[in-house]
Amino acid sequence: MFPQNSNDPNRPDRVEELGTYEMIWDCKFCGNKNLPAKTHKFCPTCGAAQDPQSRRFPSDEEKIAVKEHVSKGASLICPACGTPNDGDSQFCMQCGAPLDQAARAKTVGSEVRAENQSFAAGQERDLAQERLAEDLPKAPVTAGKPNPLIFIIGAIVLLLICGGIILALTAKRDATATVVGHDWQRIIYVDRFTSVRDNAWDDQVPADAYSVSCSERQRSSRQVPDGEECAVRRVDNGDGTFSERRECNTVYRDEPVYDDYCSFTVNRWVPDREIQSSSAQAAAPFWPSADLTSGSSLGAERENRRSESYIVLLDVDGQRYECAVNQSAWQEAEEGRTFNISIGVITNAPDCSALEQ
Ligand SMILES: [Zn+2]
Ligand SMILES: [Zn+2]
Repeated sequence: MFPQNSNDPNRPDRVEELGTYEMIWDCKFCGNKNLPAKTHKFCPTCGAAQDPQSRRFPSDEEKIAVKEHVSKGASLICPACGTPNDGDSQFCMQCGAPLDQAARAKTVGSEVRAENQSFAAGQERDLAQERLAEDLPKAPVTAGKPNPLIFIIGAIVLLLICGGIILALTAKRDATATVVGHDWQRIIYVDRFTSVRDNAWDDQVPADAYSVSCSERQRSSRQVPDGEECAVRRVDNGDGTFSERRECNTVYRDEPVYDDYCSFTVNRWVPDREIQSSSAQAAAPFWPSADLTSGSSLGAERENRRSESYIVLLDVDGQRYECAVNQSAWQEAEEGRTFNISIGVITNAPDCSALEQ
């Protein structure tokens, strides 16, 4: 039987065996047609042996059931006289030739139909044409393979372009820079304890939330089984019979899943304002006075963090440059002092590390 492999995506969820029936065959010598392939190994009109290759499916109206069918595998075709024998035979029932080298009958595979349709009979087979087609030499497949040289040249060109860009961006010139000024800025970031309105699913509402109001809405969906879809398949067993089975797959539909969605208020520390001081106010850096509203009730303030920046203004041959440095380097770079710095040829960005050494 077929493998019990649940990982096979093509395997139906449920299989129901419907029965075993006779294939039909056509006598190529006398023209007798639609002969049952299981019971008639020979043509009843002219006595010619059945050609297993002429077997085909009957129509649903004409099919003949096989009672208590025992599978012995595909027919063994006698190499001496061509008679199809049971799949477990040792010697030909017609001429007695040994069957240990005999080939097995080829099957016509399987067919599927919808449950509300019926199978038509298989096409009569033009065996001469089929054998001719099998013997024809297959034309060699000459797929247009891309030339690997194109890829190599493309890679080299790309490498050269990238290298060129990197070289240009890193190219520098040396210059003498004179300190002509100083800028500084200090900032205190202040949080305020504030009531904040927010939304969340019921199970994610914070424990300290208040003024909570919830309403139901769709949160997700789940797949629920909703009947099954079936088709009928018939499979050539290769021994003059075919098996019919009903193959069914479960059909699913989406079902919405509802939950409470809530809006609520919580009290949180929220970034609120920045207090700044800068070189516009004084030459020497100082922290601005924060003057915060203390406490832990709504409206209270707290310092979050501080930031400071120090910039040395430089002159190189009449052109102005800025260097952001640490505070001690900024203090040591007195006005009029000179530094040997490098400047990007394309980027025109100064290398400020000379000021911090
Ligand atoms: Zn015949
Ligand atoms: Zn034989």
